[in-house]
Amino acid sequence: MNTRNEVTYRSMGADLSSGARSRQLQYLQAMGVQAWELRLSAAELPAVEPAAIGATETVASPDEVVGQSAVSGFDWEMLQAGVEACSLCELHSSRTRTVFGVGNRNADWLLIGEAPGRDEDQQGEPFVGRAGQLLNAMLLAIGLQRDQVYIANILKCRPPNNRDPRPQEVICCEPYLMRQIDLIQPGLILALGRIAAQNLLNTETPIGKLRGRVHQFRDTGIPLIATYHPAYLLRSPLEKRKTWQDLQLAVETLRGQG
Ligand code: URA
Repeated sequence: MNTRNEVTYRSMGADLSSGARSRQLQYLQAMGVQAWELRLSAAELPAVEPAAIGATETVASPDEVVGQSAVSGFDWEMLQAGVEACSLCELHSSRTRTVFGVGNRNADWLLIGEAPGRDEDQQGEPFVGRAGQLLNAMLLAIGLQRDQVYIANILKCRPPNNRDPRPQEVICCEPYLMRQIDLIQPGLILALGRIAAQNLLNTETPIGKLRGRVHQFRDTGIPLIATYHPAYLLRSPLEKRKTWQDLQLAVETLRGQG
């Protein structure tokens, strides 16, 4: 695991210089988090415990579709080319661009959202619309620049009218994301929203019950924390406080691993 982000993790503490603290307050304000929430101590955070994950049935194994093994030896360039050429599901016919993922390929933090929206489909980069701006503010609030983390989605292509991903689309796309995880070897996965959390954890448990604790990503040993999707937070700003708690839990979890 990487340790180079330690400096920024430490900047979460009460030892912030007044300039850094004022910047953090600005970011928190942009996130809509009240300044008093900064005073939450570790003791007030939800307990860190491995969750028992209830597995649910899948329609077909990913191996039956594209084959995990088909991409398991791919390097970044091969993988990206594979995604750009992909026509495994019907989304390829309506996409403008594939949205592979962006950021630091050696990051400690891997953020996984749902699927590209309109802006992402146009620009070929995840989280560049309004939700992306809020995500950037959330990251800055914990001392991270966008380019310090890696950001990807469950799907690489936009579902028409931003409908929920279909199981078969998720199955087709999953090997690409699994290979990205394998290449990055992140210290922590942050699942953004219900679709990402439920698919990564193979569960139908509501996001409100998945958030606030530390899961394990399948059998990898990588801790996974689920939180609300930034687009949901734009609609339900009162939930930002819980997301702030989840982010603090993520910081503490990574710090505990270092
Ligand atoms: N929502 C997502 O889940 N991912 C994006 O890339 C953009 C919006």
